[in-house]
Amino acid sequence: SAKSRGLNSYALYSPDMNTTTREKMILESSLRKAIEQNEFRLFYQPQVDIRSGELKGVEALVRWQHPTKGLLTPDHFIPIAEETGMISQIDKWVLRTACLQNKKWQEQGLPSFRVSVNLSSQEFLDESFVDDVHLILEESGLQPKYLDLEITETMTMNVNHAIPMLRKLHALGVQISMDDFGTGYSSLSYLKNFSINRLKIDQSFVRDISKETNGTNIVSIIIAMAHSMNLEVVAEGVEEKEQLRYLQIRKCDEVQGYYFSRPIPGEEFEQSYEELISRIKKLY
Ligand code: C2E
Ligand code: MG
Ligand code: MG
Ligand code: MG
Repeated sequence: SAKSRGLNSYALYSPDMNTTTREKMILESSLRKAIEQNEFRLFYQPQVDIRSGELKGVEALVRWQHPTKGLLTPDHFIPIAEETGMISQIDKWVLRTACLQNKKWQEQGLPSFRVSVNLSSQEFLDESFVDDVHLILEESGLQPKYLDLEITETMTMNVNHAIPMLRKLHALGVQISMDDFGTGYSSLSYLKNFSINRLKIDQSFVRDISKETNGTNIVSIIIAMAHSMNLEVVAEGVEEKEQLRYLQIRKCDEVQGYYFSRPIPGEEFEQSYEELISRIKKLY
């Protein structure tokens, strides 16, 4: 965490730091091996239409099947992957795997839905990323409209880079979502210049809905603002029926969260698809 990094920067000669450094080096080399040996897995979490209860998309969330530590969530390895630049390789694997998987589901006869992939700032800053996306789409045969790229507010801080980059990605026909919206640097005045399709309200605001705090207000303000800019809105981290009802009244477009489903492995998603869909319809 930032806090432990901050402390370590003062403890230059402490044995603590040596441990941390050693642990980091071990993590780094096992992460390198993980890339070579294909130890990553994708889990998928449904995004549900708030009006019809239909499945509109799934978000692909990476996991690391560690040889000794078991299944690791991104918070265990994304920070070091970003620090070392390995994130680009991981994200490219995620992008390719998610596109191939979605195409496969379509070929198996499942109704078509989007697959969302999280990007890091490294890809977003890399000019050749547009070509990578283009190639992966061609390779997989997935229609661009069924791929959604999730970016964050901090990635768009350099508007002189972000505006043309988003325009190029948009021109490929893919969709673009602004993830964790409301938590970062919000260049609201630039939002209308960004070629994006939707905002994802950060789960911290959704969590506050049941608490009758300011979070409630923020949620309705974000929805109204997004709609005035012709953007769709997805609420993240929906865990309770009460939150769903609130979001329905405020005309949020889609919901994602444990209330409907946790992220699940692709095989499980495919095997229990009918069950999952009918459970979602009942819950909604
Ligand atoms: P995110 O993109 O905002 O993804 C949503 C996170 O919230 C996921 O955590 C998901 O499991 C969790 N979540 C979903 N519904 C609920 C809920 O109802 N309640 C709560 N408390 N949590 C919920 P996860 O999978 O651990 O991922 C964490 C973050 O790691 C993601 O946040 C994303 O920023 C990053 N990440 C995940 N996969 C990738 C990837 O392939 N590439 C990159 N660069 N980042 C990734
Ligand atoms: Mg995301
Ligand atoms: Mg998010
Ligand atoms: Mg996030």
